[in-house]
Amino acid sequence: MFNKNTEVIQSVLSTIIDPDLGKDWISTGCVQNIEWTLGKVTISVLLGYPAAGAVEAMKQAISLKLMQLPGVKRVILNVESKVHAHQVATGLPGLPQVKNIIAIASGKGGVGKSTTAVNLALALHIEGAQVGILDADIYGPSQPLLLGGAAKPTIRADKKIEPLIRHGVQVMSIGYLIDGEDTPVVWRGPMVTSALQQLLNDTAWHELDYLIIDLPPGTGDIQLTLSQKIPVTGAVIVTTPQDMALLDAKKGLAMFRKVSVPVLGLIENMSVHVCKHCGHEEHIFGEGGGERMSAEYHVNLLGSLPLDMRIRAESDQGIPSVVRDPQSQVAQMYRKIARKMAAGLSLQPRDLRLKQASLQIKTQ
Ligand code: ADP
Repeated sequence: MFNKNTEVIQSVLSTIIDPDLGKDWISTGCVQNIEWTLGKVTISVLLGYPAAGAVEAMKQAISLKLMQLPGVKRVILNVESKVHAHQVATGLPGLPQVKNIIAIASGKGGVGKSTTAVNLALALHIEGAQVGILDADIYGPSQPLLLGGAAKPTIRADKKIEPLIRHGVQVMSIGYLIDGEDTPVVWRGPMVTSALQQLLNDTAWHELDYLIIDLPPGTGDIQLTLSQKIPVTGAVIVTTPQDMALLDAKKGLAMFRKVSVPVLGLIENMSVHVCKHCGHEEHIFGEGGGERMSAEYHVNLLGSLPLDMRIRAESDQGIPSVVRDPQSQVAQMYRKIARKMAAGLSLQPRDLRLKQASLQIKTQ
């Protein structure tokens, strides 16, 4: 463990900020063990979120600093990840096979919520987590199109629905179960919420670290009831920088806060368009809206995504950008946002009811 000999290592580590956690590994308790024998320093780290794409850069940052200490000749960093389940703030019991449910919401349609949800789910998987995605956008299920493939889910002998596996993630959508013509445009709110609860509970999810729910757009009764009836660990709000979308996003934020669902952050989508010919950047939907909202409402801005034709084209082909080329610039942006979202959740108390209770005491 730690001893006098390794105190100096600890103090150096405490000055290095992990870009996804926004904090150092010492104060967050991620460093499990440090050994310093002869010139070799071995550090064991346990992260509460998947971070395959970030480990190499952290190794370099840490080695660079530690090698400046007299006597250090070699640095070995062993990083593991283990995602923990959270007891949700609303007190609802969780699903046994699902550690964390993250709802992706937007104040209005067309801001890229479904595209962002699918890329985040795939990004978490590429980073090393077990992930599922539930398409709850009942009026316009888009995950079957976004994830491609024509297979239909099968019903097991125990009446549970087997999720489909697409690009390594488990998927369930109302779109797999009804025909296009049966689109439930006339379904009333209570029918929608009970259909979604059923879809969530009747799917045979297999050991998930994260279940990403692509919520229907808007912040009306359906979203409110869903947030109260589904054990949602945290929510993420997707918005464009445009004033109207932001106004709706603010309503979403207020709604989640009202029902005690922690908002893990905001994602600003279509924030800037980069001309593929000349590289000129244009803020088609306005500039800085996400940052302003983040500051005003004390909510994390997890990141901004560009308006990029490839994101649209790759979605239409059923191979989302994160899967098409996990190393591309756009894929790296989704992966960074996914890591920040998961890292933020890992810093929350395991029992979110406690946090909620202390928030209530503070505001009384
Ligand atoms: P929502 O779920 O909010 O209704 P979608 O995810 O269906 O929105 O996206 C609406 C349209 O915008 C789709 O054609 C999608 O491919 C496109 N889109 C989403 N995000 C981006 C982006 N960052 N750049 C370019 N096109 C995007």
